[in-house]
Amino acid sequence: MPEFLYIHIPFCIRKCLYCDFFSVPYDESLAKAYIDTLCKELILKKDYAKSLKSIYIGGGTPSLLPDECFIQLFRCFRDNFHLSSSPEITVEANPGTVNESTITTLLSLSVNRLSIGIQSFHNDELRTLGRIHTSDNALQTVELTRRAGMGNFSIDLIYGIPGQTMDSWHQSISETIRLSPTHISTYELTLEEKTPLYELIQSDEINPPSPPFIKGGTWGFSNKIRMPDEELILEMYNHAIDFLTACGYEHYEVSNFTLPGFRCMHNLNYWDRGEYIGVGAGAHSFVSGLRSINSEDVNNYIEHLNNGTIPESESTKLTTLDTVKEFIFLGLRKTEGIIINKLPPFIPPLARWDRGGCYSLLNACSELVDDGYLEIENGNLRLTKKGLVISNTVIVKLFERLM
Ligand code: SF4
Repeated sequence: MPEFLYIHIPFCIRKCLYCDFFSVPYDESLAKAYIDTLCKELILKKDYAKSLKSIYIGGGTPSLLPDECFIQLFRCFRDNFHLSSSPEITVEANPGTVNESTITTLLSLSVNRLSIGIQSFHNDELRTLGRIHTSDNALQTVELTRRAGMGNFSIDLIYGIPGQTMDSWHQSISETIRLSPTHISTYELTLEEKTPLYELIQSDEINPPSPPFIKGGTWGFSNKIRMPDEELILEMYNHAIDFLTACGYEHYEVSNFTLPGFRCMHNLNYWDRGEYIGVGAGAHSFVSGLRSINSEDVNNYIEHLNNGTIPESESTKLTTLDTVKEFIFLGLRKTEGIIINKLPPFIPPLARWDRGGCYSLLNACSELVDDGYLEIENGNLRLTKKGLVISNTVIVKLFERLM
């Protein structure tokens, strides 16, 4: 039974220009109705989980919620779920949406981890991303977090931003180190189709074509913006690995770094293909080999739950082949890789798996090992540093050889 619970809060003040996640404009009365509805879904799913090891409240921008919404939500957790003796309880926060009362309330509710979406310490880069906050807001949020007594916090950064240079990236990661977070995530900016940033880069315009729920602010750029070269992006990634590991952070997943003892348990469960329950509009669940997604339409979600049903937009029973791919894709994201003698029975390491046309994992890997993208050491199959920087390409190549 799942021991991990994810809660989706889909509200944002304004849509960032690169964002293709599901989120809707924040409205306090809608948010309150949404929390009532989340509690209804939690009650319907209370028997799906045994003792919870982790609760992760993500979004969207959960830190926008009024304190009373968090109090209501946590009352519902405690009334309906059993929590393990020391659960990891994370809330995502955006600078500019957190005040002292938010942190004090979260601490009083036993939230013990904050994940802060800072992304950059340069205002011009934040503006290019369409973030709502400035570098000063980010520093104030960290200061507030620390002063309130929440020492366990993670900082998210983005590299590969149009206009970003190696120097500005170095300054952002140095500033992050100065703030001593327990955990750091560094994500490459991916240009998703249908986002204003994508349209802007594709066209000759300097204004985003269709500003998404923007309240205030103008979004013109004085010059045409371009993505950095692929080579520079790879250099930025390598620099983050070298610099952060030299500063004592363990690189434990493609994009994630931690001080000893502060790995994110919740995300490790995803990479280990563990089960989890997702609650909220657009939330994903993985239970008994079935992946399901709730409807993303907030009003439809509220309406269904008012009638006692959970609106699912998709539900997929994984085939063996899907399972093999997921296992490899997720397992190789961890720097320790896949432990060969713990491979599940559907992935024979040495024998050829004939019926599906699937070769053994080790046969399929041999060329990528010879080329220096993968390595097998002490019984672990993992990406090398050369493989990590192009992890998706290596995994696609591995799948081609497997299938
Ligand atoms: S804060 Fe920005 S990136 Fe995050 S979900 Fe909202 S719009 Fe997307």
